Amino acid sequence: MRPHEHVEAFGTVDGELRVGGLPLSRLAARVGSTPFFAYDRGLLDRRVDRLRALLPDRVELSYAMKANPMPAVVQHLAARVDRIDVASGLELRAALDTGIRPGRVSFAGPGKAPAELRQAVAAGILIEVESPTEVERVIAAGEDLGLTPSVAVRVNPDFAVKGSGMRMGGGPQQFGVDAELVPELLAAYGSSGLDIQGFHVFAGSQNLDAAIIAEAQRRTVDLVSGLAEHLPGPLRYLNLGGGFGIPYTERDRPLDLDAIAAGLHELVDGVIAERLPEATPVIELGRYLVGECGVYVTRVLDRKVSRGTTYLVVDGGMHHQLAASGNFGQAIRRNYPLVVGNRVDAEDGDGVTVVGCLCTPLDLLGDDVALPPAGIDDLIVIFQQGAYGLTASPTAFLGHAAPAEVLV
Ligand SMILES: *Cc1c(COP(=O)(O)O)cnc(C)c1O
Repeated sequence: MRPHEHVEAFGTVDGELRVGGLPLSRLAARVGSTPFFAYDRGLLDRRVDRLRALLPDRVELSYAMKANPMPAVVQHLAARVDRIDVASGLELRAALDTGIRPGRVSFAGPGKAPAELRQAVAAGILIEVESPTEVERVIAAGEDLGLTPSVAVRVNPDFAVKGSGMRMGGGPQQFGVDAELVPELLAAYGSSGLDIQGFHVFAGSQNLDAAIIAEAQRRTVDLVSGLAEHLPGPLRYLNLGGGFGIPYTERDRPLDLDAIAAGLHELVDGVIAERLPEATPVIELGRYLVGECGVYVTRVLDRKVSRGTTYLVVDGGMHHQLAASGNFGQAIRRNYPLVVGNRVDAEDGDGVTVVGCLCTPLDLLGDDVALPPAGIDDLIVIFQQGAYGLTASPTAFLGHAAPAEVLV
């Protein structure tokens, strides 16, 4: 997707990018300092509405809050999705603080600490167990607290999903229990005072190919309907994972959500209705829910020319947005979409290089980008910043102040 397509998604007003209904310069004045992250409620709602409109009614939406744990964002989404997925004890507390029912919170991830598992059992949330050791710790916590823990078994599938930015299933994995070992696990622990609700399969992340995602969902349902025969009761929870990607660079095309939805309708009306009648299918999304609703706004501190290359030096950088800089030197770095947010209607000029304020050549935000002529105090905006921004970046590196975050 090209930068102007992102500008269109947010909208413009008086020649400026509009974020949360405000012209960018007004928003910047209101926030009071740059750099900052801004998340647009209207875009968040539009995304949830589109998913709700296309996916089968029976499919529940879960928000994987590690994508963006800002309390205001989590609170906003808690009222609009069915579930929240957490990945640590701290996230668990933040999720419960929204007032969501504990049974609607799930906890996934390898290496949950014994204290976190105990906290999860005490809170009555759904624990997605990833190993026999975790099962034993959960059983012990339940006995100790006099509670029946709710669990689902996270399964490492016997297939891999191609085309994912990050593969998290198939082959050897630290995630989940290998599919072929699940019957044994259920035989050993099926009657140990656990409420085993079902399964979770999460095969990969950042996938932009709808056909591959739909195929993974089909294979997941096949796998799980076989495993369900080993459960002590009917399968109620069927977490199909997610992995829906968003377009980060100009080469990326948006995901074909209609195609995925069509596949899900077929599954829900077919295999799931026939073989798993009591199952609630869940789709678990992080970046697809929040990634496109956020921008990272920086201010130009300096403009300088070095042997023919024009540099815009901004007051933010890789310490707040590691991924846009190339994740400490990823194999092929490509520019994230970037515009001069207070001049979106102006004609593009010659290519400039946008760098952050850190003293390292890795702090590169835009390499030879065509932008309207920009100078000191102009606002450079990077798109696709609603997920894995601030909390996925090395904020302590070089000791700059933390940026503000606003939901508008
Ligand atoms: C990280 C994670 C997600 C969210 O991934 P996205 O690529 O942001 O959608 C979902 N489920 C689990 C289990 C995860 O670990």
